[in-house]
Amino acid sequence: MTDSISTLKKYWGHQKFRPMQQEIIQAVLSKHDVLALLPTGGGKSICFQVPAMMLEGICLVVSPLIALMKDQVENLSKRGIPALAIYSGMSFFEVKKTIQNAAFGNYKFLYISPERIETDLFKEYVDAIQPSLIVVDEAHCISQWGYDFRPSYLNIATLRSILPNVTVIALTASATKDVQKDICEKLSFKKNHKLFQQSFARPNLSYKVIKPHSKQIAVKELIQSLKDGSSIVYCKSRREAKQVSDWLKLYKIKADYYHGGLQNLERAKKQDEWQKNNINCMVCTNAFGMGIDKPDVRMVIHYNIPESIENYYQEAGRAGRDGKNAQAILFFESKDEADLYKTIEYRYPDLVTLKKIYIDLMNYLKVPAGIGEGQSFDFDIALFSEVFKINILQATYALQALSQEELISISDKSFQSSTIEFTATKEQLRDLEEIDPVLEPIVKALLRSYEGVFDSKTNIHETLLAKLISQPVDKVKSQLRRLHQLQIIQYIPPSEMPQIYLFKNRMYQDDFSFNIKALQSRRTRHESRIKDMLNFVKNQTLCRAVMIGNYFNDLNIQPCGICDCCKQKNKAPQNETTNFIESILQCIKTRPITIKEILEQISILNEAACEKAIDYLLSENKIYTDNEGRFHIK
Ligand code: ADP
Ligand code: MG
Repeated sequence: MTDSISTLKKYWGHQKFRPMQQEIIQAVLSKHDVLALLPTGGGKSICFQVPAMMLEGICLVVSPLIALMKDQVENLSKRGIPALAIYSGMSFFEVKKTIQNAAFGNYKFLYISPERIETDLFKEYVDAIQPSLIVVDEAHCISQWGYDFRPSYLNIATLRSILPNVTVIALTASATKDVQKDICEKLSFKKNHKLFQQSFARPNLSYKVIKPHSKQIAVKELIQSLKDGSSIVYCKSRREAKQVSDWLKLYKIKADYYHGGLQNLERAKKQDEWQKNNINCMVCTNAFGMGIDKPDVRMVIHYNIPESIENYYQEAGRAGRDGKNAQAILFFESKDEADLYKTIEYRYPDLVTLKKIYIDLMNYLKVPAGIGEGQSFDFDIALFSEVFKINILQATYALQALSQEELISISDKSFQSSTIEFTATKEQLRDLEEIDPVLEPIVKALLRSYEGVFDSKTNIHETLLAKLISQPVDKVKSQLRRLHQLQIIQYIPPSEMPQIYLFKNRMYQDDFSFNIKALQSRRTRHESRIKDMLNFVKNQTLCRAVMIGNYFNDLNIQPCGICDCCKQKNKAPQNETTNFIESILQCIKTRPITIKEILEQISILNEAACEKAIDYLLSENKIYTDNEGRFHIK
């Protein structure tokens, strides 16, 4: 067996491991169940991908987001590692074909969304698949105590009972102590499991909370104060992101805005401009960040208070990846506090509202009661809210609640890939060589890269094909369209619309059932996370890095010395000294006196503290001495 470092070099071309990666890999290879906590961008994928390449067989990866899965599968394919994914929205036959490939083909990774685990089809093949390793990515989703609980993650326990001897590695960026414990329990970790937790300390990042008179002026001045590198400003809404970006542009700052409502192409373009430093300041919602790994971010500003310390830490942590000094600055206005609580009403709708929106949705999709399972639809939430006169925010959260209970799933448009299906016979294919020989390479590439493509509808990646036949992507797309016209294949590029997928048949009106208790307890936990966040914001004494450490159960963090609280503490005199300051000022006010006289009048016993107080008053320019050593008020 080759060792882990050669595997890293061979497939990824990285020269060395990042902190903790090697220890984690070693533990996995020695068959310990592992919980690994590494910050976002810390390189969690390598921790399971490297051992998977060293083990026989296929590695099963449970992942919550289709966009993430697709991204990883594409990344692996680029490195010549064959990988597959199954997620909602694929037809039964596509799923079956994929599972069979996983079981009998020569693949190294199978990505799967958690709700797929419970399907009969998957269970039927799981023995044949015999994974070498089970990976639970974003493992905090399994915990009810976490900020992103997904009920379907509990299915993973089933997997565990079917495959008791397969090693499990769970990964997440942030989990509080309760959540860590919960993950290990829910995944039935063996006794000898190992926990790896990278320190939450970021020694080069200084946290600061400010209450600006005007956020607009403050943001402008802060961004202008940067001499180099780039910055991110997190806003609470899409509209605010655009407004702040427009405002900064007035001052010739190279700013732009980014949010989840933009078209794919526009998003990709903005990301690209940002990577190339044509945009220095990205003003965005929390949609910006996944997969962002720009080392020279010097400042992250939160224009509003984030909803939880988890979010705050992840977003602030995008500053200073290169290890050089960086700042995380959070704006706080008294009214922000109320704003945080305001969305809660919308976010956790009551049963009546949920039922109404569910019925509206089914009517909108034209799905009659008793059917619908497994179907997917283009979905325009703006139009939906308008037709049914629902506040769009309320609609969004109600649909989220429905999807959290896995009645429906709403997919980001960006995950979809194009599909093709051969409609021509083998003979017709042969004829093609004569009709249009130019198209031969692309057909060959299709047949060669996608096993089984001739028999069933298959997801394809134009970028990959383009590489294979050394043609630009646009050319590949136009050739695929041409093949479609010639009725050789049916080529369906992804729809730009978000999709709604129904996990269950439409419920009859009187049978509407929904686990409202779960929703309510999520609300309670959400409220307590807001409280923790507000504590962090309002705190003025405890080191902010230590507070974050405490929150994540990383108790080794030492006071950072560079956050606003530490600086304040180092500057301000000790308590005992503070007591003397006023009295000393009173003494000096009556007439200029020497230090001896001051000590006599105040406290001979506390000479040291008195002297410190005098030092402080001198350094703050509140008093001064004359030639005779007498102190005067300034
Ligand atoms: P996470 O899942 O922890 O957020 P990823 O696994 O997506 O992070 O990795 C983030 C980035 O770090 C990727 O671009 C990856 O290629 C890079 N990376 C990971 N490990 C290494 C390493 N040992 N050397 C260099 N780059 C690495
Ligand atoms: Mg990851």
